[in-house]
Amino acid sequence: MFTHPYCLWSVRQEVGDPSTQGQAEAQDLQLSELHDSQNNSYKLPPAVRDLLPVWLLEDIRTTEAFHWEEEGRACAFSPSEALLYALVHDHQQYARHLLQRFSMHALAMPSASFRCCAHSATPHVAVAVRYNRKNILKMMMDTLKQSADEGEKKLLLSQRGCAHAEGGKTALHLACDLARPECVLLLLGHGACPYVTDRAGDTPLDCLLQQISQSDMDMRTKRVCLGYLVLFMPALRFRMRTELRENPALWSRLVGEQAFLWLSGQSPPSLFVQCMRNVTRSVSDEQLESLPDFLRPPDFRLHQS
Ligand SMILES: [Zn+2]
Repeated sequence: MFTHPYCLWSVRQEVGDPSTQGQAEAQDLQLSELHDSQNNSYKLPPAVRDLLPVWLLEDIRTTEAFHWEEEGRACAFSPSEALLYALVHDHQQYARHLLQRFSMHALAMPSASFRCCAHSATPHVAVAVRYNRKNILKMMMDTLKQSADEGEKKLLLSQRGCAHAEGGKTALHLACDLARPECVLLLLGHGACPYVTDRAGDTPLDCLLQQISQSDMDMRTKRVCLGYLVLFMPALRFRMRTELRENPALWSRLVGEQAFLWLSGQSPPSLFVQCMRNVTRSVSDEQLESLPDFLRPPDFRLHQS
């Protein structure tokens, strides 16, 4: 039975982590089950799901496996399409191989059946954020740093998704919606723009503040995201500022008194935050990730005056 590859992440995103499910189901899977007798070809997706060795996956991808495009054309899987499966199933070795061997080609736009529509953004960064694949996201950022020019980097990091399926959101919006602090820091540290607005006119900061106001769940994690985000926003331009000013009691409680005064524009940021901004501007992202603990408190000391 043919499954539209786009369904892999657009539909399953509701039902938890498919890679864990896949691993459990697949323990007894024999290689023969990967053979598609109808097309006389091996199937790449279940082979990646079962974390088969890299050499075998590349053998299957380049010689045996096909997927069907809508016009009925059989296509071999490109490195970029294989990387999407590596992301979904967290096959880190395969992802590393694809990125090292094919560099930016592994981050190229996949064929039409892997996208929602012609306006879809290149999906890899957003898929990494959605599935919280921090290690593969880091590998992808390293590839961008080594091999992409400024235009490619900007496109991959700050491109808005299509209006209907993706709400015009960037990967950073998604990282804020899902409260994934490591992803927020990786994206910002590599140059994702925090001022891009989605279809509703919201910046990633707006999305995060909405998440904070909607539920108390994961509040600590959301505050870590907030701490990272504001470090990379020297000008606090965002839509929710009016809402903050109109409900000072609520927002002081939600984000803390100091952060509230600062986000609503009533006082400058604390000296600590001002120093950290300079630090983030002047150190490389590797150094940023290995900052000592006292410089990386959970919420970047937003509440400290
Ligand atoms: Zn679309």
